Amino acid sequence: MSDNRSGVPVLDPWGESSVVDYGRLFEEFGIEPIERFADKFPATHRLLRRGVWFGCRDLGRVLDAARSGSIYAVMSGIKPTGVYHLGTKTTAEAMVFFQGLSKAARVFYSIADVEAYCDNGLKFSESHEIAVGNVADILALGLDPERAYVYKQSEEMRVMNLASVFSRSVTNNMMRAIYGDRAFGLYFSALVQAGDILLPQLGFFGGPKPVIVPVGVDQDPHIRLTRDLARRYRDEFGFIEPSSIYHKLVHSLTGSEKMSKRDPMGVLTLNEDPKLVRRKISNALTGGRATVEEQRRLGGEPDKCVVYEYYRDHFLEDDERLLRIRSECLGGQRLCGECKAELADLVVDYIEKHNEKKASMMDLARNLLEEGSRIAKQGGSIL
Ligand code: SF4
Repeated sequence: MSDNRSGVPVLDPWGESSVVDYGRLFEEFGIEPIERFADKFPATHRLLRRGVWFGCRDLGRVLDAARSGSIYAVMSGIKPTGVYHLGTKTTAEAMVFFQGLSKAARVFYSIADVEAYCDNGLKFSESHEIAVGNVADILALGLDPERAYVYKQSEEMRVMNLASVFSRSVTNNMMRAIYGDRAFGLYFSALVQAGDILLPQLGFFGGPKPVIVPVGVDQDPHIRLTRDLARRYRDEFGFIEPSSIYHKLVHSLTGSEKMSKRDPMGVLTLNEDPKLVRRKISNALTGGRATVEEQRRLGGEPDKCVVYEYYRDHFLEDDERLLRIRSECLGGQRLCGECKAELADLVVDYIEKHNEKKASMMDLARNLLEEGSRIAKQGGSIL
């Protein structure tokens, strides 16, 4: 965390985050600009081309492994408290992309039910059905189930064992410096997440290897904690510090800085009712001017516009069409009402297709979770 007076970024994995100037994250937190690695990617992606992935740590190690065909892991997770929204979709897209870069990549997808309990009070029995839907979502987005281990934190005892190991060397001061004053349950869930991130490097999963963790930048405190723990326990476990790639925070439709399930009118989920999609988008914050006359004369401000952000980051693959929208907005030929309606059509169409795919993935999602429970019981404790 940090103080956001004077525009200093605030990164809080459990609460309000604020980043006005992404460049400051490079100075304040030592995140590396992704442009340094732009020509090393073996393939491109909308999120890379358009600067949504903006920062990383030790990314070169993973890109080298992808190009050489050596083994690496792609690790991230979801807190099963609700359906996918645009933030969780962005993380899932990154996982699918990094899995697709090499046949030697294996995904580890953690269902963070321990965190859902610690942060939201959701019992494991309540989060299970939500988790099935979340897994079907990532399958619908293209995850290859043949090279994925999907497990629940509460069932993967190696993760819980690692959290116990780490708890012996982590002090209250250290946690307070990273996360601020929080309930102990949240500190505990942070150690469990560190266990998640380092799990792929345990002997049962083939030992130390490069690991890429795609996350929203608000999750960087977990990455810093885990990289510190990887260094501390290198002698014992041979850990390599995990790499990470960060996407920008997804603005809510109402313009607040981070889309969150806690804000129902600002959030856009992937199973939203079409009528609600249209209503939410028609009320979205834009970069439009006060009157039509002004808009025609001065043009709009797409860089301040959530509608434009959603075209660019989530719902428009076609680069030429995006450029046209931008230029029409800047030139005053485009008005916000029609622009919102056009976006709403794209979103409704996307959600409809996504949900068709998702419905066909529900059985597979259940099977993957059952398979995860079975693997979680194999191999015994690491202690
Ligand atoms: Fe945003 Fe579209 Fe209005 Fe431009 S015309 S400010 S992109 S809603």
